[in-house]
Amino acid sequence: MPDLSAMLERGPVVCAEGYLFECERRGYLQAGAFVPEVVLDHPGVVEELHREFVHAGSDVVEAFTYYGHRQKLRVIGKEDILEPLNRQALSIAARVASETGTLLAGNLCNTNVYEPGTPAVGEAKAAFEEQVAWAAEAGADMIIAETFSWLGEALLALEAIQAAGLPAVVTFAVHREGTLRDEPSPAEACRQAEQAGAAVVGLNCIRGPRTMLPLLGRIREAVSCEVAALPVPYRTTEAEPSMQSLHDPGRGGAQAFPTALDPFTCTRHELGEFASEALALGVRYLGVCCGAAPHHIRAVAEAAGKTPPASRYSPDMTKHSFLGTDPGIVRAYQEYAGNL
Ligand SMILES: [Zn+2]
Repeated sequence: MPDLSAMLERGPVVCAEGYLFECERRGYLQAGAFVPEVVLDHPGVVEELHREFVHAGSDVVEAFTYYGHRQKLRVIGKEDILEPLNRQALSIAARVASETGTLLAGNLCNTNVYEPGTPAVGEAKAAFEEQVAWAAEAGADMIIAETFSWLGEALLALEAIQAAGLPAVVTFAVHREGTLRDEPSPAEACRQAEQAGAAVVGLNCIRGPRTMLPLLGRIREAVSCEVAALPVPYRTTEAEPSMQSLHDPGRGGAQAFPTALDPFTCTRHELGEFASEALALGVRYLGVCCGAAPHHIRAVAEAAGKTPPASRYSPDMTKHSFLGTDPGIVRAYQEYAGNL
């Protein structure tokens, strides 16, 4: 049986996220409502994406139930598919995890209804409990509770996971303000999640490598458990630290989120560098969130010293017809490219 703590004791763990954006880009999921109906409509697409991410180095297969919760389904008038969608997502992920020997993760996420001191707290709690129950029945090895901008909401999710006796990875979403909505410090939020029993705490989504990295050192100092870092692969800046705040000068300064982020996409090298720097800080649960593609995941896995199956096809520019140095490359072509 794959076990998260045992894997982390052996070395870094890589987790691919970002199923929502990738299915949207491939034309199987609608931007806007962003509900993962693809799980029911085109299960083969989801299964293939799980396999691609494992091939690229993901140690975790995260069931695609992100935004597959009651509030989202109510918005599109399809609450009746809540349970079939969750069960199907879990069964697809379970098949890939068992065939590849990776960890099967259930998923809880921001409910988009939670507000402290309102009846929505009870609604969020009930939503977490039903999703955790389905994940536990599907044999999940762990649950990822992610993308929370409220500490209180994350703690509710964690409580549901703890009640099921499963290991929890809890990751917070830090928007442009640099704080959570009910807790000024991401490090303090992580500390409280650890105190409440999370196995791994950290950050996911919203921030690109450049604006997530500075937050990780403080989190590493604040907790004694393993720390997670799963940025979005976008070139966020100090002035525009979140993917939501990016504006594209090539389109008259239009907001890039969520369907026009392409010009901000990080290279695989930037993700590899991020992973190396995060590892140097002591972060050992690494991944990529919204916008992730397999080449990003492979770069993170290789920075963590792994050689996933996809590493067989990692670049070897020595054999390139113009840019290479292999004796088989024709000199005139090297000269033409200014490569001598
Ligand atoms: Zn994300």
